[in-house]
Amino acid sequence: MSEAETVENYVAGAWVRPSALGTLDVPDPSTGVVIARVPRSDARAVDTAVRAARAAFLTWRDVPVAERARKVLALRNLLEAHAEELARTVVRENGKTIDEARGSVRRGIEATEFAASAPTTMQGAFLEDVSPGVDTTLVRQPLGVVVGITPFNFPVMIPLWMVPLALVCGNAVVLKPSERVPLSAVRLARWIDEAGFPAGTFNLVHGDAPAVDALLAHPGVDAVSFVGSAPTARHIYTTAAAHGKRVQALAGAKNHLIVMPDADLERSVPAIVSSAFGQSGERCLAASVIVAVEPGADRLVERLAKAVKALTTGPADDPATHVGPVIRPDHRDRVLAWIRDGEAGGARVVARGRVPEGSDGYYVPPVLFDGVRPEMAIAQEEVFGPVLSVVRVASLAEGIEVANRSRFGNAAAIFTRDGRAAREFTHRIEAGMIGVNIGVPAPAAYFPFVGWKGSFYGDLHATGRDAIDFYTRKKVITSRWF
Ligand code: NAD
Repeated sequence: MSEAETVENYVAGAWVRPSALGTLDVPDPSTGVVIARVPRSDARAVDTAVRAARAAFLTWRDVPVAERARKVLALRNLLEAHAEELARTVVRENGKTIDEARGSVRRGIEATEFAASAPTTMQGAFLEDVSPGVDTTLVRQPLGVVVGITPFNFPVMIPLWMVPLALVCGNAVVLKPSERVPLSAVRLARWIDEAGFPAGTFNLVHGDAPAVDALLAHPGVDAVSFVGSAPTARHIYTTAAAHGKRVQALAGAKNHLIVMPDADLERSVPAIVSSAFGQSGERCLAASVIVAVEPGADRLVERLAKAVKALTTGPADDPATHVGPVIRPDHRDRVLAWIRDGEAGGARVVARGRVPEGSDGYYVPPVLFDGVRPEMAIAQEEVFGPVLSVVRVASLAEGIEVANRSRFGNAAAIFTRDGRAAREFTHRIEAGMIGVNIGVPAPAAYFPFVGWKGSFYGDLHATGRDAIDFYTRKKVITSRWF
């Protein structure tokens, strides 16, 4: 694809220019230069893709699972061979650094490897003699057409949480990637094609809200996997459910990290700073609020401030960069407004980084706030930028209470040397993904990605055995032979 070319949809095994409501520019967030255009697929384009998927499903579901898994392994090998190219695409369209991009591609490959274990994970159950001479068998069968709708912050990893697992379970897939990062999805589609999945089993539809809404209402769609912001997740969950579809919607976050007075600051501070400022804070597992348990908050804040001041903000492809740009100018302006809001509310800026001068990229200076009160908006709302707030509390119990007041419950962590404090925290905290001396407690793909409260809408989570359950339906056969 040449520079600033309009990307195409991939439908029924062919690259097509869809009918669309115009196009959107895709700028490189590090420079502001437009690197591609993305079509806003309309309802007709969505209908074509769903029909292609439906047709492919009818034969794909009967392909033996071991053969489907072999195609997933072929895809895994292509991803491995092209991992560096994928990572560089992520750097360019998302603005995260190369190390962060490589890590995310690795996580996507890990999810693909887990998918290849479907001949084991898809197994059902059998019980002999539920009554004399009567046996019961439980089998898992595919759902039909599964739609994946993904966010901008993990252009490779999150599509790979969904696509290989849904395919290996015997479904056909329509992926609608974020319109802000379409290029990684184009590369994924190429290798899915090369791995030998039959035409129509995987389809790529570009676009934004109109394409999503057409997918949610389409009678040919059976299930929707969504990852994105909280307001969109609520819309997806209610609309997809109203149209009778199975749905899982992973949403926003506000992650609290409790730091006990006995924490090993030498090792904890780098982990905290990396969690809060890595990927410019655009991670659903990013630390957003540090709950500093007294005595010891002064010592912690002093070290955090020093580390934040040492961060270099700059273009994602510069090896000296720690903090890249955020995704778009409107998002930069929102994060800057949150910083002003924190200052106006009486929080104290104890460290503020610098942004590159004279750049058209979308940079936000890393900011560390002290003296944040739990009721302030900056302590409650998802900022999704390089901003970290410190709330001081008198005890672990008070810290847990502060964290549990959040309407989100994606991740939480404790930094301590005390096993009893860690046990109390992991037991009482109301969040799904918990770290003990870990800043980004992301579960490996063979475990589920378990947001709680306002961070998740649905029953079965993404990845792990939950994903196998989500992408299959159970059939229970009771039989006797005369
Ligand atoms: P977003 O909600 O803006 O977009 C996500 C997807 O929804 C995109 O494909 C987009 O085209 C579509 N979309 C957006 N608005 C829509 C609308 N009004 N109607 C229909 N579809 C719409 O999210 P984003 O900004 O791309 O991603 C960042 C958000 O995702 C953050 O809130 C982050 O916490 C969250 N996230 C959550 C997890 C998790 O596991 N819980 C993981 C990654 C990101």
